[in-house]
Amino acid sequence: MNEASALFKAALCAGDLAALRQIPKADLHNHFMLGGDREWIAERWGVRIEAIQAPLKSMAEMDQWSQVSINTPFPDRTGRLRLLEATLRQAVKDGVSVLEIGEDVWALKPFYHGDVEDLLASWKAVREAAAPQIELRFQIGISRHCGVPYLMEKLAPFWDRPEFYSLDLYGDEQAQPIENFIPLYRRARQSGWVLKAHVGEWGSAQDVRQAVECLDLDEVQHGIAAAQDPAVMELLRQKQVRLNITPTSNRLLGRVASLADHPIARLKRAGIPVTINSDDVLIFDSDVSKEYLRLYKAGTLTAEELNEIRQEGLK
Ligand SMILES: [Zn+2]
Repeated sequence: MNEASALFKAALCAGDLAALRQIPKADLHNHFMLGGDREWIAERWGVRIEAIQAPLKSMAEMDQWSQVSINTPFPDRTGRLRLLEATLRQAVKDGVSVLEIGEDVWALKPFYHGDVEDLLASWKAVREAAAPQIELRFQIGISRHCGVPYLMEKLAPFWDRPEFYSLDLYGDEQAQPIENFIPLYRRARQSGWVLKAHVGEWGSAQDVRQAVECLDLDEVQHGIAAAQDPAVMELLRQKQVRLNITPTSNRLLGRVASLADHPIARLKRAGIPVTINSDDVLIFDSDVSKEYLRLYKAGTLTAEELNEIRQEGLK
């Protein structure tokens, strides 16, 4: 057993958050506008952002929170790059060594002069100043609310660019049928990108199956509804589709009753690759080290299992 694994498990058993932060880990499900270091944002920019305390009732409530707490104080390109810096600083503080974050395609025009080179150079400059040691995997995001012809047009400047690592789809799972996105995902595969999508958070196990099959997904953001159907779990195991799970976010959006009941244990024990991630640090108070510790304290997973999950994320 390597030294990091021994230290990680000892830190979990001791409930030592500071020690957990010293051990390398991945964050593969992080929306960078909401991923920042709260204390640093308050000190550097004088903006106080409070995490929510009680579970939200809908995504609409979450959008409202973002509008007030994020979009109003950080409305423009400068604000966006400040939030990027805050997210990179948060990752460094939390011992995240592999971070997968990115921009939504619509942002290229208003914030980066419609120029991919400008986007890449802006992100590189912030990254070199704030977190040169982190492996940053640059994701391209698309919203399930947008029409496919619109998304095709917005994605055109990005296709075949090796600087981008993955494609992710987010927004309301019910907004439109998943099959609509097949042409986009085929083209993204040709570009050599890792294929991901948000499914099985608000949707069902069948929604997870359908998305994995028709989009040929490598990874699913959430996917926890798969635990409701053994046949869907078996499909994920056979294909080794990884689920990038966000436990506290699931609890505070009412997707699970408690961390102790979180289906991550059943999914992992069924042989499906899973990882543990923050989703939105600023709204859910959910950094990666805290997520590991909370799951350990709730008795959801053992220290050994949590360490295996940590190592899975670093693959
Ligand atoms: Zn998410």
